[in-house]
Amino acid sequence: MTTLILGGTTEASRLAELLAAAGLPAVLSYAGRTESPRAQPVPTRIGGFGGAEGLARYLKAEGIGRVIDATHPFAAQMSRNAVAACAATGTPLLALERPAWQPGPGDRWTMVPDLQAAAALLDGPRQRVFLAIGRQHLSAFAGQPQHHYLLRLVDPPGALPLPDCTLELARGPFDAAQDRALMLRHGITLIVAKNAGGAGAEAKLTAARDLSLPVILIDRPALPPRPVAATVEEALRWCHADLGV
Ligand code: NAP
Repeated sequence: MTTLILGGTTEASRLAELLAAAGLPAVLSYAGRTESPRAQPVPTRIGGFGGAEGLARYLKAEGIGRVIDATHPFAAQMSRNAVAACAATGTPLLALERPAWQPGPGDRWTMVPDLQAAAALLDGPRQRVFLAIGRQHLSAFAGQPQHHYLLRLVDPPGALPLPDCTLELARGPFDAAQDRALMLRHGITLIVAKNAGGAGAEAKLTAARDLSLPVILIDRPALPPRPVAATVEEALRWCHADLGV
């Protein structure tokens, strides 16, 4: 029984490792956003399925026995499609959903519901902003061109909608010491990030706390109800339980 892992996260890669080590067949699916995804211990496929209907067709054609949605918490369209396609085909679905980050002592966070609200908060004098939101939605900040933006991306982005920015090409996970040094090097005064949760991207928040820098943190999009595991180990146990192991 093949497990389809919807990937693009550190957790999806880790789950692929655990399934391979357990001898359970799996396919890891990427959207194809990065030019050279990491090598994986299970077969991979790259590119969209063609909406929920396309995914349902894929599940049937490939004889997929279960789906684990291990996409990023902000990949809402893919997650909605997975819920719809699994319901339509009767395929068991589990979402690997890392808990959202919560502020602790020393954090200077402002939580906002979406990108637009984050951009609206930047309406003010020039700052040096670490805009840690990936590549896709930078245009939401085009209306605040007075700031200097530090962007950290996996691949070179091509034309950017922001007139004054520095590009840092790097692939996570990152550690707090590196992120602290990065912020000091670029004279960062404010961080804008998505509330992704998990360990791989948390370093920037730890670094911000160490440097007492303010953070604008964007809440996750709402998703339909679905069974959820918080860790890769829990997701592996779900696969084993399903097999009666
Ligand atoms: P999205 O808006 O939810 O997805 C848009 C479309 O991309 C989906 O409808 C689907 O196309 C395709 N797609 C997305 N994830 C896919 C996957 N794992 N395998 C095959 N097709 C996929 O997603 P997104 O925000 O663009 O994110 C794209 C990918 O980057 C995801 O795999 C996600 O895990 C990863 N990622 C996203 C973020 C983020 O902040 N959004 C951050 C880190 C990593 P069809 O409808 O044609 O099937």
